[in-house]
Amino acid sequence: MTVAILLGAPGAGKGTQAPLLSASLGVPVLASGDLLRSEVAAGSEIGREVDAIMQSGELVPDEVMVRLFLARLGRDDALGGAILDGFPRTRPQAEALDAALAASGRHVDKALLIEVPIEDLIGRFAGRRICKAGGHVYNDWFKPPKVWGICDVDGSELIHRADDAEATVRARMEQQLGPLRDVADYYREQGILVAVNGLQPIEDVARDLLAALGWHAAPTG
Ligand SMILES: [Zn+2]
Repeated sequence: MTVAILLGAPGAGKGTQAPLLSASLGVPVLASGDLLRSEVAAGSEIGREVDAIMQSGELVPDEVMVRLFLARLGRDDALGGAILDGFPRTRPQAEALDAALAASGRHVDKALLIEVPIEDLIGRFAGRRICKAGGHVYNDWFKPPKVWGICDVDGSELIHRADDAEATVRARMEQQLGPLRDVADYYREQGILVAVNGLQPIEDVARDLLAALGWHAAPTG
């Protein structure tokens, strides 16, 4: 069974790539947020524990997160492997995950980093504009509307959310990149980090990620 960790900054394309990987490999993507929500909803023992922690406004401790992932990795659909998304986020979490996997004779096989330079990440967020009427999303750089400032679909005004303003985006990004670099370095030191160029078209990023996992698509045409 292959355990892979998917790493990338917000806006790097993790959310786009995770389902593509999952479909090609036939293994589930285990996203930390989904896992927390589903355990709480299922009312499992660990779900009730997590619920109590979250109700009290505390962060779910690393040890609980690790237990959550281990339990999930033990289910039938993850027997062939799984892709972890959103965890580990810090070096101590990565160490705790390794220790727990080792205790059950498993290990992280690969960490896949979707690499996008910070200036491009900021552009992806800061360039975002949203249509006032229908919430259609545009981007000054990547997906401009046909007419500047007007939604292609319904003709309503496109607005720049305050929270997408560049200074805010930059500050938030810098804050998140530190721990991401730590986690990437942790796996790089183990020799299992593969960095993929996230500036490529979606299908090329997917191809490189799959190749990093030793999966090659059958040639077509
Ligand atoms: Zn619209």
